[in-house]
Amino acid sequence: MSTAAEFHADLFIGGQWRPAASGETADIPDPATRDLVGTAAVGGVADAAAALEAARDAFRGWSGTPVAERAALLHDAVRRIRAQLDEIARILTLEQGKPLADARKEIAFACDVIDYYAEEAKRVGGEWRPTRHANVRSLVVRQPVGVVVAIVPWNYPIDLLSWKIGPALAAGCTVVAKPASDTPLATAAVVRCFADAGLPAGALNLVIGPGSVVGDELVRNPISRLITITGSTETGRHVMRLAADHIKRLSLELGGQTPLIVLDDVDLEAVIPAAVRRSYSNMGQICIAVNRIFVADGVADDFITGFGDQARGLRLGHGLDADAEYGPLLNEATRQRSIDHVEDALAGGARLITGGQQPAGERYARGWFYEPTVLADVEPTMRVMREETFGPVAGIRRFGSLDEAISLANDSPYGLAAYVFGRDLERCLHVAERLEVGGVGVNVNDVTELAAPFGGWKESGFGRELGPEGLEHCYELKHIRIGLS
Ligand code: NAD
Repeated sequence: MSTAAEFHADLFIGGQWRPAASGETADIPDPATRDLVGTAAVGGVADAAAALEAARDAFRGWSGTPVAERAALLHDAVRRIRAQLDEIARILTLEQGKPLADARKEIAFACDVIDYYAEEAKRVGGEWRPTRHANVRSLVVRQPVGVVVAIVPWNYPIDLLSWKIGPALAAGCTVVAKPASDTPLATAAVVRCFADAGLPAGALNLVIGPGSVVGDELVRNPISRLITITGSTETGRHVMRLAADHIKRLSLELGGQTPLIVLDDVDLEAVIPAAVRRSYSNMGQICIAVNRIFVADGVADDFITGFGDQARGLRLGHGLDADAEYGPLLNEATRQRSIDHVEDALAGGARLITGGQQPAGERYARGWFYEPTVLADVEPTMRVMREETFGPVAGIRRFGSLDEAISLANDSPYGLAAYVFGRDLERCLHVAERLEVGGVGVNVNDVTELAAPFGGWKESGFGRELGPEGLEHCYELKHIRIGLS
C-alpha cells in the first residue's frame, strides 16, 4: 500500500474515543487501488466486555428517558449525518469500493431509517386485556429488551447499521455496534454524529475487531440480551450456537441465493436493465443480488442476447471517478470466489456470454476488479446456482413450465428474496405466493421498503428488519396482573 492514511477509527466506549486495549491497529485499503485509506483500532475481548458494561450501565437512564426525548436526539444525529453526507459517502466509497452515487444513496436511506424508527417508537404502547374475574385487571406492557449487540457486514455498512441501531435506540435499548473489520471508517464517522448530538455516554458504543474475537465475546457475554446480525449463514449458525448458552434473543439476516423468474409475456425492455442492475449493483455483493435467472423458453434467446449486451457495456472504475457505474470487489478473497464459481460452471459445460476475467488496462491493474459475467446453459448443480457467489456473476437457465421454474427457484437452502417479471400480474402473483422466500419483487428489482419487513426464510435466517416488525424484537412483553379490592 502507498500514501499516508487519511482516516482513523478508534473504539467508542462509554462516551470516550479510545484505542484498543492492546494498542493494535489495522490498515484499511482502497479496494480499487490497494492504497492505504485509513487505519482502525483492533479491539479484543477486554474492549468488547468494556463496551457491554458501558451499555449495561447506561441502560437504566436511556430506557427511562421519555421516548420523545430519545427521538429528538436521534433526529439531531440524523441532521448531522445529512450535513456531512458528502464526506461520509467519500469515506464509504474509499473503504468499500462502491461508486459515490451509491454511497450517497446508502447513507441517505440510513438517515430515513433512523428518522422512521424515532417516530415509530412513539406509537408503541401497552394495552388492557379482558380478564376472567371482575376484580382483576390485566395490563400488557412493552419494555426495551436491554443491551443490543448490532453486528454489521461490509457490503452495506451504514444502511445495515441503521436498520439495527435505529430501532434499538428508539425503543430505549443501549447498543454495542460492531462493523466488519474491512469497513469501520464511515461507521465511526456516523457514530460520531450520535455522540455530537448528545447521546448519553454508553447508549451507543462502537467496537471494531475480528468477528471471531470481538464478535464472539459480544454474543457470549451474559450482558447482551439481543443479538442482531447481518452476515453469512455460516456466521449465523455459529452465533446461534453461542447465543444458546444464555438463551439470547436473535435476529439473523443471513445469506441469499436469489432467483429471478422471467415469464414468457415479459416486457424485455423493462426486465433486462432491471435484472442487470440487480445482478451487478455493488458488484453483486448484495444478499438480494440476482444469482440465478430462469427464463421462459419463448423469450430466452432474446433475453440472453440483450442481458449479455448490457452487461458488456457497464463501466467499471474507481468509485470516485465520475464515469464509474460499478466499482471493484472488496478484496482478493471475494474476487477469487467469483473466479472459482465461473471456472466450475465452464468446466461443467456452461456457456460464457461475457465477462469471466479481470478487465484490461492500467485503470484496473491494482484493484480487485472483475468483469460483470453472464453464464448461459447453467445446471442447477453448479456452484454458481447453489452457493452464494457474492460477486458479479449471473447464471441463466431456460424453463418450459411454470411449475418447473418455481421448483428450480425453491431448490435452495436459502430463502431471502426472489423476483418475478411478467405482464400478467395475476400469474406473477401466483408465482410469488409459491416462492419460499421472505420477500418477492414483482416487476421490480428490489424488495427493500422502509415500512415493510425485510428478512429470510430457511437458512437465510429469521427475524425481520424495517417496518414496525424491525422494532418488535427490541421489546420484551410483560403482563402485569392486578387484583382490586
Ligand atoms: P460475515 O458473516 O463474514 O461477517 C458479518 C459480520 O459478522 C462481520 O461484522 C463479522 O466480523 C461478524 N462475525 C464474523 N464472525 C463472527 C463471530 N464468530 N461472532 C460474531 N460475529 C462474527 O459476512 P460478510 O462477509 O461481512 O458479509 C457478507 C454476508 O452477509 C453474505 O453472506 C450476505 O448474504 C450477508 N448479508 C445478508 C443480508 C441480509 O439482510 N440477509 C444483507 C447483507 C449481507
